[in-house]
Amino acid sequence: MTRLDLDELMRSRVREVADFPEPGVRFKDITPLLADHVAFAGAVDAIVSHHGRGTIDKVAGIEARGFIVAAAVAYHFGAGFVPVRKAGKLPSTTYSASYHLEYGEATLEVHQDAFAPDERVLLVDDVLATGGTVGAAVSLVETAGAQVAGCSVLLELTALGGRNRLANLDVHALLTY
Ligand code: AMP
Repeated sequence: MTRLDLDELMRSRVREVADFPEPGVRFKDITPLLADHVAFAGAVDAIVSHHGRGTIDKVAGIEARGFIVAAAVAYHFGAGFVPVRKAGKLPSTTYSASYHLEYGEATLEVHQDAFAPDERVLLVDDVLATGGTVGAAVSLVETAGAQVAGCSVLLELTALGGRNRLANLDVHALLTY
């Protein structure tokens, strides 16, 4: 399958749901993409080949949809997986960072011992919108003593300007809207 065919397939497997989870939000539902084994495997392969095997020590997935993609990417890289979770979910000692969402406000946490010093970390999430979520995850990884090698998302909502807020980061989006 060519890259263009894969883009078209993935795009056809993203469902837009109006007014979810609140009025005015056009929610990008990736469950059809995850359910299509060709689209899901193609997305994971494209992320791994963009960065290159051997360049990443840990893949950090952002709760909750980011976990699904990040775990598959980590396996494919031969890297470890680290969950970046919403407040109060991780059992051991954490660092936390608060941020603004396209809809609402939230806090993310990571275990303080999640990374070895200077490990190269790839951040993975489903959607990049305003960039607040990824920005908070970057600060958590850095606070925990590791380096952010880049960030991959399935979808980027370009009108919300997230990429501009993450100026020093290699932001890799499989699909842009
Ligand atoms: P942001 O912090 O604004 O970049 O928002 C990104 C986070 O919110 C990601 O974890 C997404 O899962 C979620 N998100 C934001 N906007 C949308 C949207 N329109 N459709 C689906 N998920 C979204």
